[in-house]
Amino acid sequence: MVVAVVGRPNVGKSTLFNRLIGRSLALVDSLPGVTRDRREGAASLGGMDFTVVDTAGLDEPVKKAAVRGVRGAAAEALAMEQVMADKGVLSAMLEQTTAAVRAASVVAFVVDVRHGISPWDEYYARWLRKTLADVPSPPHLLLIANKCEGSVADELMFSDELDNGWSTAAARRLGFGEPIYLSAEHGDGLAALYNALAPIH
Ligand code: GDP
Ligand code: MG
Repeated sequence: MVVAVVGRPNVGKSTLFNRLIGRSLALVDSLPGVTRDRREGAASLGGMDFTVVDTAGLDEPVKKAAVRGVRGAAAEALAMEQVMADKGVLSAMLEQTTAAVRAASVVAFVVDVRHGISPWDEYYARWLRKTLADVPSPPHLLLIANKCEGSVADELMFSDELDNGWSTAAARRLGFGEPIYLSAEHGDGLAALYNALAPIH
């Protein structure tokens, strides 16, 4: 089983990768959202062994849009189309990420419960479906709601909507099923991830 971890920058993809391989490679920079390159590692979860792939190809377009000074949802939506259509952006890294999701048996699409679903999350959810449309046996898709620890985890037990912008309904609308809540940094909620992966493995 090969699990590819994807999502917009800064949602905690590399932190989850590190958690799953049980080591702290120099993948998470002191600057948030920095991944040096695509990495593959041997993961172990509850005695279940699999391969995990960290990706960074979807980080780049968002960063390019940010550099162009894009602010706000409408401007962001426009920038996404422009940036993704820009051949200069279709770098080796984005190609690697595309190859990784197409070859995976599971794609873990990571979002951030501390920010809620962003236009980029929605854009990449569509990107993922398009990218997998012609794959003969497409991977299983899992939605990981990361950064779920502490008071945020407590609040989520009582409410589907948080003041920080998180909405469980918006997360479900991405079309990857029920979010799996966990904290890659603290190691909370990994049993839920195990339960989702075990039937696939
Ligand atoms: P990536 O860009 O998606 O690979 O994200 P990183 O793994 O580099 O993490 C981005 C930032 O989010 C870093 O500052 C991490 O420490 C932080 N982060 C990652 N996972 C968690 C988590 O479970 N909880 C919290 N609170 N922060 C996290
Ligand atoms: Mg990263």
